[in-house]
Amino acid sequence: MQYFIIPTGRVWVYPAGAFGLVPKSLWEKYQTENSRNLIPMDLNSLLVIDEGKPILIDTGLGAKLSQKETSNWNLEYPEGSMLDNLKKHGYEPDDIEIVINTHLHSDHCGGNTLRSDDGLIPQFPNADYFVQRIEWADLMNPSSRTKHTYNKDNIQAVWEAGRLNFLHGDAQITENVRVKVMPGHSRAHQIVIIEGKDHPVIFLADLASYAVNFTREAWVPAYDLEPQENIKSKTAIKVYSYQTGALLVFQHDTRVRSGYLIKNEKGKWDIDVVQKGSK
Ligand SMILES: [Zn+2]
Repeated sequence: MQYFIIPTGRVWVYPAGAFGLVPKSLWEKYQTENSRNLIPMDLNSLLVIDEGKPILIDTGLGAKLSQKETSNWNLEYPEGSMLDNLKKHGYEPDDIEIVINTHLHSDHCGGNTLRSDDGLIPQFPNADYFVQRIEWADLMNPSSRTKHTYNKDNIQAVWEAGRLNFLHGDAQITENVRVKVMPGHSRAHQIVIIEGKDHPVIFLADLASYAVNFTREAWVPAYDLEPQENIKSKTAIKVYSYQTGALLVFQHDTRVRSGYLIKNEKGKWDIDVVQKGSK
């Protein structure tokens, strides 16, 4: 079992997205605004090699955005693109056997597809893609609040190619990789749990965008559709993480990429950082 964090890009966003009603005097210890009052948000995927099988969890915004969309997201590639970083570990798109989307917001599944002369096609032509059926339903029938976060271009071509597999709740994907539905951020948002040799590895996705959203579970992002549900989900996973000594992967945090949940000397939840981010 091997796993590698795969940077796919970085965007700059309004701090209220991640920190909601938390006052700036509190969150600015964890993130620094730029001159346009935006904070950085990484878009990291996780590459898992389970018994030789390459599995990619989430695919970032992808490479098919228009210039306008790229500038709206303030998207940049300080560490290269998703494909550059897969290549660094020796993998080409054709090698990927499984793609798991934690949910279908564009910053998690934009790289599922690419534009070719024949229109949109799967970026990973030999992969089976796995998503929750409810996420697909919400993407196809968005509400006025969610319609800008869901885009059929990211997934319809996968379905048309016969590569999309629907999940109906918690599921075992491979021998050592399973998904668990943790709603709140979206209706069927799922985390991915990898059974490691000594402890589980948990890809939290938007259960907690930044590490501090996890340690302080009441720091609720304005992005969450059902904040109280997300707090419940986080509380359950905090207990599980602490008891199992799980390694946590924070997909969007630019400072803390992975670490263990601990209690610090003041008795407060904290993260013992394993892999730092680059910002
Ligand atoms: Zn996200």
